[in-house]
Amino acid sequence: MVESNLLRLMQYAGMNCPYYENLFRMNNINVFNIEDFFKIPVLTKQIIQQNERLIISRAYRIEDLIVERTSGSTGLPLYCRYDKEERVRRSMFLWRERKRNSPSIIGQRMVNFHAGNRVQGTSLRENNIEIDEKNKVLYLNYLDMNKNTVTEYYNAIARYKPFFIRCQPSAICEFIRFCKKNGLETSSLGVEYIELAGEFVHDYVAEEVKNAFPNAFVANQYGAQEFFCIAYSCRFNSLHILEDSVYVEILNKDQDGFGEIAITSLNNYAMPFIRYKIGDIGRVIHTGCNCEKQEAILELKSARSCEYFELNGHKVHGNIFKNCIEKFNANKNDLFIRQFQVFQVSEDSFVINIISERDGFTEEFKNFTENYIKSRMDLVVNVKAELCEELQINPVSRKLKMYNFLK
Ligand SMILES: [Zn+2]
Repeated sequence: MVESNLLRLMQYAGMNCPYYENLFRMNNINVFNIEDFFKIPVLTKQIIQQNERLIISRAYRIEDLIVERTSGSTGLPLYCRYDKEERVRRSMFLWRERKRNSPSIIGQRMVNFHAGNRVQGTSLRENNIEIDEKNKVLYLNYLDMNKNTVTEYYNAIARYKPFFIRCQPSAICEFIRFCKKNGLETSSLGVEYIELAGEFVHDYVAEEVKNAFPNAFVANQYGAQEFFCIAYSCRFNSLHILEDSVYVEILNKDQDGFGEIAITSLNNYAMPFIRYKIGDIGRVIHTGCNCEKQEAILELKSARSCEYFELNGHKVHGNIFKNCIEKFNANKNDLFIRQFQVFQVSEDSFVINIISERDGFTEEFKNFTENYIKSRMDLVVNVKAELCEELQINPVSRKLKMYNFLK
C-alpha cells in the first residue's frame, strides 16, 4: 500500500514536475520500482526556495493553488502550495485523529490560540479576541501575553466554555503560569480536550498542562505547515504517524536509531515534496503501542521550539519576528529575506541577521520591523538589521537557533 503510493507519486513527479524530471535524469533514476525511491536525493528548504516554481506540477495552474507561507525552525521562508482537495483531505485526517481520542469532539466549541493575521486582507485573526460564531471558534492571539491580555483571555474562555483548546505549548504554559500566579482557576474552565501543536512538547510541559486542566485529554500534534499533521498522539502519549498521509524516513541514523527526519507527502500532487528533510531529529518505532492503533510511532529527540521574550512587563512570542518578515517578503512580492536569526542584545534592542541576495534594504527593513511591532504590540524596540553570509551556529548545541533571547 505504502509502496504503491510512493511509486505512483514519484512516477507522477517525474512526468509532471520539471524539478523531479531533471533530478531523476541527472541521477539515472528510473521510477519503476521502490528501490528507486531511496536513490532520490533528499529535498531541503534551500532547494525548495531555489526551485519553487519547478517543483509545482504542470497539471495545475499556480493561481488556483493555496499558498502557505512558512519559516519553519530555521528562519528560512518558504512558499508551499497545495490544491483545495488536499486542504480538505488534510483537515479530515486531523479530525479523524482527534475523534479517535475524543469521540464527541466534532462540532464542539473550540479556542484557537494563533499568531495573528498572516494572510492578506481581513481575517478573524486581526484582533486579540474574535469569535467565529458559524464555526464555533474563539480566536485568541498568543503573541503578546501581558497582564491585561491574559486576564481578558481567561475571562473570554470562561464565558465561551470551550470543549477544546488548540495551542502552542509555550503559549499555554505562559497562560497557565499567569493564572496560577493571579489566583485564576484553570481546572474550573471545563475544558475537555487540549491539543498542543507547533513546537516540541517537553514532558514537563505536558505534565504542567495536565495538572492545570485535570479533566482534559492532552494531545500532541506533530506537524509542519508544509505537511499539516505528520503524527498524532494517542492516550498512551505515543505519536502515531499518519501513514496514509505521509511517509516518514530516518536518515543518517545513530546506534539508537535516531536520525534526521525526512518526510514524503503522499497526497500533495500539486507540489510534491519527496524525501524532504524537515530539520527535526527522531526515530521510528514499529513495536506497537498499548492502544488500538497499528501505525508506527515517531519518537522525537528535538524539534522546533520557540519561546517568549520579556519587554516592559510583556511576554512577547518570538513569532512576532517571523510574521513581520513574512509580511515584509509578501509586500515585496519576493523572497527578499531568505533566512534570518534574531538576537536580543538588551531588553528592547534586537539584532536581526539576514541572508539575502539583495542589498540596500536594511534601513527600510529596520523601520518596517520597528513599526510592525509598534503597531501590533504597542511596544517600542530598536532593531539593527545586518546582512551576512551565514548565520551563527550555537557552539554548545551545534545547531542553528532562530531566536536567541535574554534569559
Ligand atoms: Zn498508541
